[in-house]
Amino acid sequence: MIKNFRIEKHHAGIVAKATLFKCLRYLDKEVVETPFLLIDGEKLREKVSLIGRSIRNSTVFYAVKANPDREVIRFLHALGTGFEIASEGELELLLSIGVEPAKIISSNPVKSLKFLKLASTTGVNRFSFDSPDEVEKLAHHIPHCDVYVRLSVPNEGSEWPLSKKFGVELDEALALLCRARDRGLNPAGITFHVGSQCTNIYNWNIALEKAKTLWDMAEKSGIRLRLLNIGGGYPIAYTKSVVSIESIERNINALIYDKFPEDITVHLEPGRAVVGDAGIFVTTVIGKAKRSDENWLYIDVGVFNGLMESVGGIKYSYIVETSKQARHKKQWTVAGPSCDSFDVIDKNVTLHEPQVGDIVLILSSGAYTVSYASEFNGFSIPKTILI
Ligand SMILES: *Cc1c(COP(=O)(O)O)cnc(C)c1O
Repeated sequence: MIKNFRIEKHHAGIVAKATLFKCLRYLDKEVVETPFLLIDGEKLREKVSLIGRSIRNSTVFYAVKANPDREVIRFLHALGTGFEIASEGELELLLSIGVEPAKIISSNPVKSLKFLKLASTTGVNRFSFDSPDEVEKLAHHIPHCDVYVRLSVPNEGSEWPLSKKFGVELDEALALLCRARDRGLNPAGITFHVGSQCTNIYNWNIALEKAKTLWDMAEKSGIRLRLLNIGGGYPIAYTKSVVSIESIERNINALIYDKFPEDITVHLEPGRAVVGDAGIFVTTVIGKAKRSDENWLYIDVGVFNGLMESVGGIKYSYIVETSKQARHKKQWTVAGPSCDSFDVIDKNVTLHEPQVGDIVLILSSGAYTVSYASEFNGFSIPKTILI
Protein backbone atom coordinates (compact mmCIF):
# COMPACT_ATOMS: atom_id res chain seq x y z
CA MET A 1 0.00 0.00 0.00
CA ILE A 2 1.46 3.31 -1.09
CA LYS A 3 1.81 5.59 1.90
CA ASN A 4 -0.11 8.78 2.21
CA PHE A 5 2.04 11.11 0.16
CA ARG A 6 0.57 14.47 -0.77
CA ILE A 7 1.21 14.49 -4.48
CA GLU A 8 -0.03 17.71 -6.05
CA LYS A 9 -0.63 18.91 -9.58
CA HIS A 10 2.47 21.07 -9.78
CA HIS A 11 4.69 18.07 -9.03
CA ALA A 12 3.85 16.68 -12.47
CA GLY A 13 5.97 19.38 -14.11
CA ILE A 14 8.96 18.57 -11.89
CA VAL A 15 9.28 14.82 -11.62
CA ALA A 16 8.43 12.15 -14.18
CA LYS A 17 5.49 10.03 -13.08
CA ALA A 18 7.48 6.86 -13.72
CA THR A 19 10.35 8.06 -11.53
CA LEU A 20 8.06 9.11 -8.70
CA PHE A 21 6.04 5.90 -8.67
CA LYS A 22 9.15 3.77 -8.90
CA CYS A 23 10.36 5.59 -5.80
CA LEU A 24 7.04 5.16 -3.97
CA ARG A 25 6.92 1.46 -4.80
CA TYR A 26 10.45 1.12 -3.49
CA LEU A 27 9.48 2.82 -0.23
CA ASP A 28 6.53 0.50 0.08
CA LYS A 29 8.69 -2.59 -0.23
CA GLU A 30 11.96 -1.72 1.42
CA VAL A 31 12.87 -0.53 4.86
CA VAL A 32 15.96 1.62 4.59
CA GLU A 33 17.10 4.09 7.18
CA THR A 34 16.85 7.66 5.91
CA PRO A 35 18.29 9.81 4.55
CA PHE A 36 19.13 8.20 1.23
CA LEU A 37 19.10 9.15 -2.42
CA LEU A 38 17.16 7.06 -4.91
CA ILE A 39 18.31 7.27 -8.53
CA ASP A 40 16.01 6.03 -11.27
CA GLY A 41 18.10 4.12 -13.80
CA GLU A 42 15.42 4.39 -16.46
CA LYS A 43 15.52 8.16 -16.20
CA LEU A 44 19.30 8.07 -16.60
CA ARG A 45 18.88 5.94 -19.69
CA GLU A 46 16.34 8.38 -21.11
CA LYS A 47 18.59 11.39 -20.46
CA VAL A 48 21.64 9.73 -21.96
CA SER A 49 19.74 8.94 -25.13
CA LEU A 50 18.27 12.45 -25.29
CA ILE A 51 21.36 14.55 -24.60
CA GLY A 52 23.43 15.23 -27.68
CA ARG A 53 20.82 13.73 -30.01
CA SER A 54 20.06 17.06 -31.68
CA ILE A 55 23.67 18.15 -32.15
CA ARG A 56 25.48 16.62 -35.11
CA ASN A 57 28.92 15.03 -34.57
CA SER A 58 28.58 15.36 -30.83
CA THR A 59 29.89 13.12 -28.06
CA VAL A 60 28.73 13.24 -24.45
CA PHE A 61 31.17 13.21 -21.52
CA TYR A 62 29.25 13.07 -18.25
CA ALA A 63 30.69 15.47 -15.66
CA VAL A 64 31.49 13.00 -12.88
CA LYS A 65 31.42 15.59 -10.09
CA ALA A 66 27.63 15.90 -10.37
CA ASN A 67 27.22 12.39 -8.94
CA PRO A 68 30.20 10.05 -8.71
CA ASP A 69 28.32 7.14 -7.16
CA ARG A 70 29.98 3.93 -8.29
CA GLU A 71 26.77 2.23 -9.42
CA VAL A 72 25.62 5.34 -11.26
CA ILE A 73 28.97 5.56 -13.06
CA ARG A 74 28.90 1.86 -13.87
CA PHE A 75 25.39 2.22 -15.27
CA LEU A 76 26.35 5.24 -17.39
CA HIS A 77 29.45 3.43 -18.62
CA ALA A 78 27.31 0.50 -19.71
CA LEU A 79 25.18 2.95 -21.69
CA GLY A 80 28.31 3.99 -23.55
CA THR A 81 28.72 7.53 -22.30
CA GLY A 82 32.13 9.20 -21.87
CA PHE A 83 33.27 11.01 -18.73
CA GLU A 84 34.64 14.43 -17.84
CA ILE A 85 36.86 14.49 -14.75
CA ALA A 86 39.02 16.84 -12.71
CA SER A 87 40.95 14.81 -10.18
CA GLU A 88 42.96 11.69 -9.44
CA GLY A 89 40.08 10.40 -7.33
CA GLU A 90 37.65 10.59 -10.24
CA LEU A 91 40.21 9.04 -12.57
CA GLU A 92 40.87 6.14 -10.19
CA LEU A 93 37.15 5.54 -9.86
CA LEU A 94 36.69 5.34 -13.64
CA LEU A 95 39.72 3.11 -14.14
CA SER A 96 38.56 0.75 -11.41
CA ILE A 97 35.30 0.32 -13.28
CA GLY A 98 37.11 -0.36 -16.53
CA VAL A 99 36.38 2.88 -18.40
CA GLU A 100 38.75 3.17 -21.36
CA PRO A 101 41.03 6.25 -21.24
CA ALA A 102 39.78 7.19 -24.72
CA LYS A 103 36.38 7.84 -23.12
CA ILE A 104 37.80 10.30 -20.59
CA ILE A 105 38.51 14.02 -20.92
CA SER A 106 39.48 16.58 -18.29
CA SER A 107 38.15 20.10 -18.56
CA ASN A 108 39.43 21.40 -15.26
CA PRO A 109 41.70 24.23 -16.46
CA VAL A 110 43.99 23.96 -13.41
CA LYS A 111 44.98 20.38 -12.72
CA SER A 112 46.85 19.05 -9.72
CA LEU A 113 50.28 17.52 -10.27
CA LYS A 114 49.06 14.32 -8.68
CA PHE A 115 46.29 14.11 -11.26
CA LEU A 116 48.65 14.84 -14.18
CA LYS A 117 51.09 12.19 -13.01
CA LEU A 118 48.35 9.59 -12.82
CA ALA A 119 46.81 10.70 -16.12
CA SER A 120 50.19 10.42 -17.84
CA THR A 121 50.39 6.72 -17.01
CA THR A 122 46.92 5.94 -18.31
CA GLY A 123 46.58 7.39 -21.80
CA VAL A 124 44.06 10.11 -20.99
CA ASN A 125 45.00 12.65 -23.60
CA ARG A 126 42.55 15.58 -23.77
CA PHE A 127 42.76 18.51 -21.39
CA SER A 128 41.52 22.06 -21.09
CA PHE A 129 43.76 24.90 -19.99
CA ASP A 130 43.64 28.67 -19.54
CA SER A 131 47.07 29.76 -18.32
CA PRO A 132 50.73 29.65 -19.38
CA ASP A 133 51.58 27.64 -16.28
CA GLU A 134 49.15 24.94 -17.32
CA VAL A 135 50.85 24.74 -20.74
CA GLU A 136 54.15 24.11 -18.97
CA LYS A 137 52.63 21.50 -16.67
CA LEU A 138 50.99 19.65 -19.55
CA ALA A 139 54.09 19.87 -21.79
CA HIS A 140 56.15 18.38 -18.97
CA HIS A 141 53.80 15.58 -17.86
CA ILE A 142 51.85 14.69 -20.99
CA PRO A 143 53.85 15.85 -24.01
CA HIS A 144 51.93 16.13 -27.32
CA CYS A 145 48.51 15.84 -25.67
CA ASP A 146 45.41 17.52 -27.13
CA VAL A 147 44.48 20.76 -25.42
CA TYR A 148 41.50 23.07 -25.66
CA VAL A 149 41.45 26.57 -24.26
CA ARG A 150 38.76 27.72 -21.81
CA LEU A 151 37.15 30.91 -23.01
CA SER A 152 35.39 33.17 -20.57
CA VAL A 153 31.72 33.66 -21.45
CA PRO A 154 28.79 35.40 -19.73
CA ASN A 155 27.03 33.32 -17.07
CA GLU A 156 24.06 35.61 -16.52
CA GLY A 157 20.88 33.58 -16.52
CA SER A 158 22.55 30.61 -14.85
CA GLU A 159 21.50 29.79 -11.36
CA TRP A 160 24.93 28.46 -10.51
CA PRO A 161 27.47 30.71 -12.30
CA LEU A 162 31.01 29.44 -12.87
CA SER A 163 32.48 32.28 -14.89
CA LYS A 164 34.69 34.05 -12.39
CA LYS A 165 37.04 31.24 -11.57
CA PHE A 166 38.08 30.14 -15.06
CA GLY A 167 38.37 31.29 -18.62
CA VAL A 168 40.29 33.91 -20.56
CA GLU A 169 39.40 36.60 -23.08
CA LEU A 170 40.02 36.30 -26.82
CA ASP A 171 43.52 37.75 -27.14
CA GLU A 172 44.86 35.77 -24.25
CA ALA A 173 43.14 32.61 -25.51
CA LEU A 174 44.85 33.01 -28.86
CA ALA A 175 48.23 33.61 -27.21
CA LEU A 176 47.71 30.45 -25.14
CA LEU A 177 46.86 28.32 -28.18
CA CYS A 178 50.04 29.57 -29.88
CA ARG A 179 52.08 28.91 -26.78
CA ALA A 180 50.68 25.39 -26.52
CA ARG A 181 51.67 24.73 -30.14
CA ASP A 182 55.17 26.11 -29.55
CA ARG A 183 55.60 23.82 -26.56
CA GLY A 184 54.75 20.76 -28.61
CA LEU A 185 51.15 20.30 -27.48
CA ASN A 186 48.33 19.86 -29.95
CA PRO A 187 46.03 22.91 -29.81
CA ALA A 188 42.81 21.13 -30.68
CA GLY A 189 39.99 23.45 -29.79
CA ILE A 190 37.97 25.69 -27.56
CA THR A 191 35.76 25.17 -24.53
CA PHE A 192 33.48 27.31 -22.40
CA HIS A 193 30.85 26.84 -19.70
CA VAL A 194 27.72 28.99 -19.79
CA GLY A 195 27.11 28.35 -16.08
CA SER A 196 25.29 25.52 -14.41
CA GLN A 197 21.48 25.33 -14.43
CA CYS A 198 21.47 27.76 -17.36
CA THR A 199 17.89 28.62 -18.18
CA ASN A 200 18.77 31.35 -20.66
CA ILE A 201 19.06 29.83 -24.11
CA TYR A 202 20.88 32.94 -25.41
CA ASN A 203 23.92 32.30 -23.24
CA TRP A 204 24.91 29.66 -25.78
CA ASN A 205 24.49 32.16 -28.64
CA ILE A 206 26.90 34.61 -27.05
CA ALA A 207 29.36 31.86 -26.16
CA LEU A 208 29.31 30.32 -29.64
CA GLU A 209 29.73 33.73 -31.25
CA LYS A 210 32.80 34.36 -29.14
CA ALA A 211 34.18 30.87 -29.79
CA LYS A 212 33.78 31.46 -33.53
CA THR A 213 35.76 34.70 -33.28
CA LEU A 214 38.58 32.83 -31.55
CA TRP A 215 38.36 29.98 -34.06
CA ASP A 216 38.98 32.47 -36.91
CA MET A 217 41.75 34.25 -35.01
CA ALA A 218 43.49 30.90 -34.53
CA GLU A 219 43.15 30.05 -38.21
CA LYS A 220 44.82 33.35 -39.13
CA SER A 221 47.69 32.40 -36.84
CA GLY A 222 48.09 29.09 -38.62
CA ILE A 223 46.26 26.94 -36.08
CA ARG A 224 43.48 24.78 -37.49
CA LEU A 225 41.17 23.87 -34.67
CA ARG A 226 38.71 20.97 -34.94
CA LEU A 227 37.16 20.56 -31.49
CA LEU A 228 34.42 22.61 -29.89
CA ASN A 229 33.61 21.62 -26.31
CA ILE A 230 30.44 23.38 -25.23
CA GLY A 231 30.67 22.39 -21.56
CA GLY A 232 27.63 21.67 -19.41
CA GLY A 233 24.85 23.85 -18.12
CA TYR A 234 21.65 22.19 -19.34
CA PRO A 235 18.97 22.89 -16.72
CA ILE A 236 16.50 20.63 -14.97
CA ALA A 237 13.15 21.46 -13.36
CA TYR A 238 13.39 22.15 -9.63
CA THR A 239 10.31 24.21 -8.79
CA LYS A 240 9.22 25.27 -12.24
CA SER A 241 9.60 23.90 -15.73
CA VAL A 242 12.60 24.99 -17.78
CA VAL A 243 13.46 25.23 -21.45
CA SER A 244 13.78 21.75 -22.94
CA ILE A 245 17.07 20.13 -23.88
CA GLU A 246 15.76 19.62 -27.42
CA SER A 247 15.13 23.36 -27.82
CA ILE A 248 18.54 24.25 -26.45
CA GLU A 249 20.24 21.72 -28.70
CA ARG A 250 18.36 22.62 -31.85
CA ASN A 251 19.45 26.20 -31.33
CA ILE A 252 23.06 25.18 -30.64
CA ASN A 253 23.14 22.85 -33.62
CA ALA A 254 21.87 25.55 -35.97
CA LEU A 255 24.44 28.02 -34.67
CA ILE A 256 27.34 25.59 -34.90
CA TYR A 257 26.61 24.50 -38.44
CA ASP A 258 25.97 28.06 -39.52
CA LYS A 259 29.36 29.24 -38.27
CA PHE A 260 31.85 26.40 -37.93
CA PRO A 261 33.28 23.90 -40.44
CA GLU A 262 31.14 20.88 -41.31
CA ASP A 263 33.70 18.38 -40.03
CA ILE A 264 33.89 19.87 -36.53
CA THR A 265 33.90 17.59 -33.48
CA VAL A 266 31.55 18.68 -30.70
CA HIS A 267 31.95 17.63 -27.07
CA LEU A 268 29.24 18.03 -24.42
CA GLU A 269 29.80 17.79 -20.68
CA PRO A 270 26.42 17.65 -18.99
CA GLY A 271 26.35 16.85 -15.30
CA ARG A 272 23.18 18.15 -13.70
CA ALA A 273 20.94 17.27 -16.65
CA VAL A 274 22.04 13.63 -16.65
CA VAL A 275 21.46 12.76 -12.99
CA GLY A 276 19.55 15.65 -11.43
CA ASP A 277 15.93 14.77 -12.12
CA ALA A 278 16.61 11.04 -11.83
CA GLY A 279 17.20 11.56 -8.11
CA ILE A 280 14.81 11.76 -5.17
CA PHE A 281 16.07 12.30 -1.65
CA VAL A 282 14.17 10.30 0.94
CA THR A 283 14.31 12.10 4.28
CA THR A 284 12.49 11.97 7.60
CA VAL A 285 11.00 14.74 9.71
CA ILE A 286 13.04 14.79 12.91
CA GLY A 287 11.37 17.74 14.60
CA LYS A 288 9.05 20.71 14.34
CA ALA A 289 8.98 24.02 16.15
CA LYS A 290 7.23 27.35 16.14
CA ARG A 291 9.60 30.27 16.63
CA SER A 292 7.73 33.57 16.86
CA ASP A 293 5.64 33.43 13.66
CA GLU A 294 7.75 30.91 11.85
CA ASN A 295 6.99 27.21 11.48
CA TRP A 296 10.19 25.23 11.42
CA LEU A 297 10.48 21.77 9.92
CA TYR A 298 13.65 19.83 10.65
CA ILE A 299 14.58 16.94 8.41
CA ASP A 300 17.50 14.51 8.48
CA VAL A 301 19.25 15.87 5.40
CA GLY A 302 20.50 19.43 5.32
CA VAL A 303 22.96 21.87 3.86
CA PHE A 304 25.98 19.93 5.07
CA ASN A 305 25.00 16.36 4.25
CA GLY A 306 23.44 16.81 0.82
CA LEU A 307 21.63 20.05 0.12
CA MET A 308 24.59 22.39 -0.17
CA GLU A 309 23.31 24.01 -3.34
CA SER A 310 20.37 25.47 -1.45
CA VAL A 311 22.84 27.98 -0.03
CA GLY A 312 23.59 29.15 -3.57
CA GLY A 313 19.92 29.62 -4.35
CA ILE A 314 18.76 26.26 -5.69
CA LYS A 315 15.22 25.63 -4.47
CA TYR A 316 13.70 22.16 -4.36
CA SER A 317 10.20 20.73 -4.58
CA TYR A 318 8.97 18.56 -1.72
CA ILE A 319 6.39 15.83 -1.38
CA VAL A 320 5.39 15.14 2.20
CA GLU A 321 3.86 12.12 3.79
CA THR A 322 1.13 13.02 6.26
CA SER A 323 0.40 10.06 8.48
CA LYS A 324 -2.26 12.10 10.28
CA GLN A 325 -4.54 13.77 7.75
CA ALA A 326 -3.55 17.42 7.54
CA ARG A 327 -6.12 19.46 5.68
CA HIS A 328 -4.42 22.81 5.50
CA LYS A 329 -1.08 23.83 4.20
CA LYS A 330 1.34 25.95 6.15
CA GLN A 331 4.42 27.97 5.36
CA TRP A 332 7.57 26.26 6.59
CA THR A 333 11.19 27.07 7.11
CA VAL A 334 12.87 23.79 6.21
CA ALA A 335 16.11 23.08 8.04
CA GLY A 336 18.69 20.30 8.27
CA PRO A 337 19.70 18.31 11.34
CA SER A 338 22.97 20.00 12.35
CA CYS A 339 23.44 22.62 15.06
CA ASP A 340 24.73 25.24 12.65
CA SER A 341 22.39 28.12 11.86
CA PHE A 342 23.70 28.00 8.28
CA ASP A 343 21.84 24.72 7.94
CA VAL A 344 18.59 26.17 6.60
CA ILE A 345 17.46 24.68 3.30
CA ASP A 346 14.60 26.97 2.35
CA LYS A 347 12.06 29.43 3.68
CA ASN A 348 8.40 29.96 2.88
CA VAL A 349 7.81 26.43 1.64
CA THR A 350 4.10 25.65 1.46
CA LEU A 351 3.37 22.11 2.63
CA HIS A 352 0.77 20.03 4.39
CA GLU A 353 1.86 19.47 7.97
CA PRO A 354 3.77 16.24 8.46
CA GLN A 355 4.37 14.54 11.83
CA VAL A 356 7.74 13.73 13.32
CA GLY A 357 8.77 10.44 11.71
CA ASP A 358 6.94 11.13 8.43
CA ILE A 359 8.83 10.98 5.15
CA VAL A 360 9.66 14.05 3.04
CA LEU A 361 10.72 13.45 -0.57
CA ILE A 362 12.96 16.04 -2.17
CA LEU A 363 12.66 16.02 -5.94
CA SER A 364 15.34 16.67 -8.58
CA SER A 365 18.10 16.00 -6.10
CA GLY A 366 20.38 13.62 -8.01
CA ALA A 367 23.06 16.17 -8.91
CA TYR A 368 25.46 18.09 -6.68
CA THR A 369 23.97 16.73 -3.50
CA VAL A 370 25.67 13.62 -2.14
CA SER A 371 28.85 14.61 -4.01
CA TYR A 372 29.01 17.77 -1.87
CA ALA A 373 28.07 16.13 1.40
CA SER A 374 30.21 16.04 4.54
CA GLU A 375 29.77 14.29 7.87
CA PHE A 376 29.73 17.58 9.71
CA ASN A 377 28.37 17.27 13.23
CA GLY A 378 28.28 13.49 12.94
CA PHE A 379 25.40 13.21 10.49
CA SER A 380 26.19 10.55 7.93
CA ILE A 381 26.40 11.07 4.20
CA PRO A 382 23.25 9.64 2.59
CA LYS A 383 23.78 6.49 0.60
CA THR A 384 22.81 6.39 -3.05
CA ILE A 385 20.58 3.57 -4.28
CA LEU A 386 20.17 3.00 -8.01
CA ILE A 387 16.77 1.52 -8.74
C1 LIG B 1 30.77 21.12 -13.55
C2 LIG B 1 31.22 21.11 -14.96
C3 LIG B 1 30.39 20.58 -15.95
C4 LIG B 1 28.98 20.12 -15.69
O1 LIG B 1 28.13 21.20 -15.60
P1 LIG B 1 26.54 21.01 -15.44
O2 LIG B 1 26.06 22.39 -15.27
O3 LIG B 1 26.32 20.15 -14.28
O4 LIG B 1 26.04 20.40 -16.70
C5 LIG B 1 30.90 20.50 -17.23
N1 LIG B 1 32.14 20.94 -17.52
C6 LIG B 1 32.96 21.47 -16.59
C7 LIG B 1 34.31 21.92 -16.98
C8 LIG B 1 32.53 21.58 -15.28
O5 LIG B 1 33.33 22.12 -14.37
